[in-house]
Amino acid sequence: MKFLIRDDDACAFTSPKELIKSYGEIWTEVPVGLSVTPFRVPGNAHTVPKSFRTITTPLPLETNPEIVAFLKELQVGGMAQILLHGYDHTLPNGKPEYAGATDLLAKTQRGKEYLEKLLDCRLDTFVPPNNGILRAGVEAIASCGLNLLNTPALLRPSHRPVRPENITNFLRVNYFRRIKRMKYPYPLNFCDHMELACHALTPSQNLESILDAFVNCQRENGVFVVATHYHAFDRKLKSGESIRQALNILLDLAAGVPGIQFPTFSQVWESVE
Ligand SMILES: [Zn+2]
Repeated sequence: MKFLIRDDDACAFTSPKELIKSYGEIWTEVPVGLSVTPFRVPGNAHTVPKSFRTITTPLPLETNPEIVAFLKELQVGGMAQILLHGYDHTLPNGKPEYAGATDLLAKTQRGKEYLEKLLDCRLDTFVPPNNGILRAGVEAIASCGLNLLNTPALLRPSHRPVRPENITNFLRVNYFRRIKRMKYPYPLNFCDHMELACHALTPSQNLESILDAFVNCQRENGVFVVATHYHAFDRKLKSGESIRQALNILLDLAAGVPGIQFPTFSQVWESVE
């Protein structure tokens, strides 16, 4: 079994302290996939620090040299892998950025090249803001050589280009959903990119269903990706545990699985034949 952590939302208003508070005791053992937004427009969500909520223009990551230096350091030390989390993380017409914005190919290219240069890394993984992505978004990320942490509807031309492998992958996903009652636990290959499902650890979940998903994935010797947010670690699940506690429970369980691996996302994509 492989176990990975995906963390969303690091950007120009994130401080190293916040990331250390959430992952300081984790990333020395388990690398964390930090999905970073290169040109974040803060907006007024409750997850945005109050002093940034009136800003309506893009904040390039480089405006926060402290987080830039810290992200580079984490990467060099093997504690984090940088993933691309949209371009500006806005909600055009109320839709997730990669379901509603225009010029997604140019934005993806620019965002990827910008982060690669600024953080001295190679990006191969895309995390859609608000977990929403439609066909133009899928085409854009695939054209930029990125793999996707999400699985948009497999047979809908509005959600992805029509390809023969959509059908074979649909049959795989549907078999696991209907017969085994779980998310498909391995990477899906679409020839021009790969996709992997995640398990959200957010306040709308309860611990029991996350643990069920973990046990199912363990039985299948699959890849378990837990998706969370550094800014939500003290929030509570529906079942009462904090997200920090739930993640620690999952990490303890994972550590006890014989043959467990804690790879990076790049290593997972590389392992696909
Ligand atoms: Zn986000």
